[in-house]
Amino acid sequence: MQSVLAELIAELPEGVVVTDPDILASYRQDRAFDPSAGTAMAVIRPRRTEEVQTVLRWASAHKIAVVPRGMGTGLSGGATALDGAIVLSTEKMRDITVDPVTRTAVVQPGLLNAEVKKAVADYGLWYPPDPSSFEICSIGGNIATNAGGLCCVKYGVTTDYVLGLQVVLADGTAVRLGGPRLKDVAGLSLTKLFVGSEGTLGVITEVTLKLLPAQHPACTVVATFDSVEAAASAVVTITGKIRPSMLEFMDSVAINAVEDKLRMGLDRNAAAMMVASSDDRGAAGTEDAEFMARVFTEAGAKEVFSTDDPDEGEAFVAARRFAIPAVEAKGSLLLEDVGVPLPALADLVGGVAKIAARHDLMISVIAHAGDGNTHPLIVFDPADPAMAERAHTAFGEIMDLAVGLGGTITGEHGVGRLKRPWLAGQLGPEAMALNQRIKQALDPDNILNPGAAI
Ligand SMILES: Cc1cc2nc3c(=O)[nH]c(=O)nc-3n(C[C@H](O)[C@H](O)[C@H](O)COP(=O)(O)OP(=O)(O)OC[C@H]3O[C@@H](n4cnc5c(N)ncnc54)[C@H](O)[C@@H]3O)c2cc1C
Repeated sequence: MQSVLAELIAELPEGVVVTDPDILASYRQDRAFDPSAGTAMAVIRPRRTEEVQTVLRWASAHKIAVVPRGMGTGLSGGATALDGAIVLSTEKMRDITVDPVTRTAVVQPGLLNAEVKKAVADYGLWYPPDPSSFEICSIGGNIATNAGGLCCVKYGVTTDYVLGLQVVLADGTAVRLGGPRLKDVAGLSLTKLFVGSEGTLGVITEVTLKLLPAQHPACTVVATFDSVEAAASAVVTITGKIRPSMLEFMDSVAINAVEDKLRMGLDRNAAAMMVASSDDRGAAGTEDAEFMARVFTEAGAKEVFSTDDPDEGEAFVAARRFAIPAVEAKGSLLLEDVGVPLPALADLVGGVAKIAARHDLMISVIAHAGDGNTHPLIVFDPADPAMAERAHTAFGEIMDLAVGLGGTITGEHGVGRLKRPWLAGQLGPEAMALNQRIKQALDPDNILNPGAAI
């Protein structure tokens, strides 16, 4: 293998191919912390599309598996290294050009989501998709997973902002798809095919993003409840009438875990907390906030608090964003991402509680509630094999529950390696076979992220 790798080293600029064992070890896992991760023979850190082409031509010629990687914050094991593979990290591909006239930005994949937001904000523009991990995840990873986030309930998910892509295919061919055009129906929707493809169809080396004018300051409403069902019922009432710019849910475990760390005076006795906002202009935003406060009260909220002070509102949003790291402090996490049609939200949350009780596990639920997308966080101790087994059983049962309610095994994190065994059960044989035919057509030797997603 060393002589094969020497060929690649010779073709790329110095330093692009890394074989230091300590560095290889730090690229084994993503944030799913899959214990079965392998170790790659090399980490490749190109700067240019042409270098990515060189890597894929070489990998294709030698049938070497390639694991594309952004910042490794993925929660489904999609960037987990494999023995004998190479990890292709985009972290050094960091250019951005903003065009305020067309309201677009051309971005390389390694820039962080937060850096894109900041760069476009200098032009009075806004890139909406906002995963809670926005300060640590790459825009390439966001596109490869079709990431969601908090404002997606009103503004849509990553794919809604992708106008064009440059993608390097398994054989090293670079293709341009779409471009800075708001309308374009020429050919099949191939741009969208690559969004959410989790590194299995090609490596994204450039993206053209659609931008919006800067967001208006939001009015925020926070409500606490004695029951999760009451909170879930308020969600359906709100989304049936207005378009909030955020509608987030935390259960009591998450509230307490966040309060343990941030000490901001959250109600430790509440069963659930909702954080909602409206960014509509002027009186419309205030009316929306008043409406949501009324719905929360009528649904039985114990306390409702409204503010139009952006800093005060942001403190609650930051608390919600901090929920995953806060619950992670209680033990290892198996992190779910199941979604259901909105009327089934209460059944999903109630069903998860029953699964937790049956397996004697702590399962915290946080949710992008307005999208029906929940994150049950299964807490376990990996040093306790019986508990780890119960946690894995619960992980599967939660996905079965969601699919049984007409939902999905993943709303935004992707299938990765952790959820692959459940994919066929959701899609059914015909759709699964179609997925596999597309994969086969684009990557006949299965070198791109084998074992992930499809
Ligand atoms: C605390 C926390 C909160 C989170 N909150 C959210 C949230 O609210 N919403 C959400 O959607 N996600 C969330 N995530 C998950 C994660 O941040 C997202 O999935 C993110 O999009 C991954 O980006 P990344 O750069 O880390 O990609 P990685 O983890 O490195 O890779 C993710 C997948 O994309 C593929 N990939 C990466 N770059 C490319 C590329 N250039 N070309 C082709 N394939 C590529 C990889 O092979 C892998 O399959 C959260 C994670 C954490 C740790």
